[in-house]
Amino acid sequence: MKKPLSRFIPVKILEFEEIPVFQVGWMNGHGAALPPWCILVGDDFNHNLLRHEFGHFLQYRKTGFWKFYFNIGAPSLLNLIGLGIEKLIFKTNRFIKAHEELRVEKEANNLSRTYFGIKENQRPWK
Ligand SMILES: [Zn+2]
Repeated sequence: MKKPLSRFIPVKILEFEEIPVFQVGWMNGHGAALPPWCILVGDDFNHNLLRHEFGHFLQYRKTGFWKFYFNIGAPSLLNLIGLGIEKLIFKTNRFIKAHEELRVEKEANNLSRTYFGIKENQRPWK
């Protein structure tokens, strides 16, 4: 597998369900879906993370562009920013809801589970 040239330059490494997947060094262990274009992942990613990010594409296919970015993308991103600030300043993540507990994140998992036929007790990401 190709290694990113720099931590900031995305490198296309594969296609997942016909969606280009780019690797970005600084996203270590995390991912992001940017439908209709691509999925971004860090150095450390797995199939479950790809399935989760694909779940956001399934949401996008239901909602369309604007509803996706306003109702799903924005709350998800704001949650991550909030968690980052909380951790940085207060050295805790007790007050802001865990990312995977957000309704939009659970929905992405559920859509992905249904699409790939994964049982309820199997987590779609690590
Ligand atoms: Zn997500």
